[in-house]
Amino acid sequence: MAPTDDLEEPLIRVMLEKTSKPVTLPEPGRAWRVSADQQSQWLWGPLTISSTSGQSWYQIGAFGSDEAADQADAKLHQVFGESIDIERLSEVGGLNRVRMRWVSAQPLSPKSALAQAGFLDAFAVSGGGKVRVEGQGGAVVSEEEILLEPAGVYSAAVGHSRYRGRFRVRPSVADKVLVINELNLERYLRGVVPGEMGPSAFPELEALKAQTVAARTYAVAHLGDHDDEGYDICDTPACQVYHGAGIEHRLTNRAIDETIGLIAVYEGEPIDAMYSSTCGGHTEDASELFSGRAQPYLQGVPCSWERELILVGEDLVRAEGRAQEGSSWRSATAFGAGVAHKVLALDADASPEAILRAVGQMMGHRVASGDVADIEAFSKKLLEVSGLSRAAEVLSPESMAVEDLLFLADLYKKPLDPPIDGLAGPWPAAAALACLEMGGAISRDRGEAVPRPGGVGIFPRRAKASESLPATLPLWERWREGYRELAETAVRPGTELERLRRGDRVVALMIRRSGGAGEADRRSAWREWIREKPWTELADRLGIPDLERLEITRRTDFGRVVGLAAIGRSGQRKEWTGFSVRRALDLPETLFIVNVVTRPDGVKVARFLGRGWGHGVGMCQNGAYGLARSGMTFDRILKHYYSGIELRVWQAR
Ligand SMILES: [Zn+2]
Repeated sequence: MAPTDDLEEPLIRVMLEKTSKPVTLPEPGRAWRVSADQQSQWLWGPLTISSTSGQSWYQIGAFGSDEAADQADAKLHQVFGESIDIERLSEVGGLNRVRMRWVSAQPLSPKSALAQAGFLDAFAVSGGGKVRVEGQGGAVVSEEEILLEPAGVYSAAVGHSRYRGRFRVRPSVADKVLVINELNLERYLRGVVPGEMGPSAFPELEALKAQTVAARTYAVAHLGDHDDEGYDICDTPACQVYHGAGIEHRLTNRAIDETIGLIAVYEGEPIDAMYSSTCGGHTEDASELFSGRAQPYLQGVPCSWERELILVGEDLVRAEGRAQEGSSWRSATAFGAGVAHKVLALDADASPEAILRAVGQMMGHRVASGDVADIEAFSKKLLEVSGLSRAAEVLSPESMAVEDLLFLADLYKKPLDPPIDGLAGPWPAAAALACLEMGGAISRDRGEAVPRPGGVGIFPRRAKASESLPATLPLWERWREGYRELAETAVRPGTELERLRRGDRVVALMIRRSGGAGEADRRSAWREWIREKPWTELADRLGIPDLERLEITRRTDFGRVVGLAAIGRSGQRKEWTGFSVRRALDLPETLFIVNVVTRPDGVKVARFLGRGWGHGVGMCQNGAYGLARSGMTFDRILKHYYSGIELRVWQAR
């Protein structure tokens, strides 16, 4: 059951601001119940939250013995006399803390006043200052905490953002105030998930659900982290980004409601749910990049499905006596001819007239018999029966039939080599197929291979759902302009498929294995990148003015650079390991190769060719999107990227 109220349990306290500037709750006339020290009153907006010049407490020291604390106490009195208060905090068997504050007229620079007195390590501690909330109807001041509850069920504005729930404001160190938003954990996630994974860029519910569970797990794992300051979690990338009610989206709200309470656990404990944007094909062991965060569930895994799909070819085309071998690559024309024979149900030795008749029949035209013995006559007739003669006229008033046909084919990107030896060979049938496509009798589209109950399916590019493919079908593999027919093959879900169809019937299915086929994040904008860095700039950045060379001292099994040395001509040497390599070089990822080249303009540069964005540990967000697109559910996505985890409904303790 989704929460019905923004303040339903479990609650989370998110720190929105820690500032010495006033914070405005700008809505005019909005009623607020303002409570402090067990008393409440109503104020009307706009409200201003500010700190009042604090007589902050300063911690002078934490001493192991009473005697040492007494000495500090005495010295304070000796220097500052009656102008200060002293507080002693001692723990049984622990440290004796000595704190002080000025009772009046605090010096302009309290820390230097204390340093001059010999207390070099003194620092301001929380408390001491006051927080003040002022609005229409009065003001409330407190040394502890003020609770602000907006009237009405709609979100409240703080600065330029809107937030659900209520607010707690309290004084912090150095005259700062803390503004804390307190609300139901699920409602909090509504302001987090769209910021971590944009529902417009990643419109796949299962991927958003996986991201939601990761974000919820993070929040639950960090509840209470800042109890001493009155909040659980911050709202910046240091924790997880929280934008409040303004970015809520129907699809992410649904992802949150459908996974309500679910978190990822390993041996019963919430996991460290690390994630990054694009892993570039394989995620990484946390131990390689962040030695302090190594976990059994943060291991490198391929960014693709674990299992492959089996596609089975149907009776191979044997038209015109070509390609008995399934393994031989053929030209586009031979492929087109093979498919045309199948589509048009032609004999192996069909004449140009027979091809024309078959095309005419399919397009609903009658074809008068006539001489089509040469290429020109055949092309002209073919354009005519497929209803393309008009288009050809526009292209070329001279009506050079073959050129028109080739030009049209080129325009529509239908593979069609120029004929070489008159009408002999596969060209007439291939030209017929091109005309059928351009005339609309045969359509072509692309999609991704997906598992379907009991078989294999395709998820067409612009479609909303996947479709099943027949158990057997004419199966081809494509590499650049070459094709070969296959009897049976295995593909990873997500591999690109191109299909030729006559109505609902698949007349040819082509598999494209190029470009990281089946890798779930291959469509990410960060899949590949190039960065060029002038050598002098790099020398500056790395702090070696006479930089001579870079040396990659270690790569992980999956190719990430986790050991880098920079060496100067004078022998100076610096080294970086783990994630610091990325920061040292200021690159999107550590998955790269580097070449040092001199550009045509004479500038020596280091050219980095890389893949991915982020660190590559844990869930790959673009990969999660790709896996969801090809049909993987959120629980399997999470278990894919976080080895050995389980999902549990979290119960507040
Ligand atoms: Zn990935």
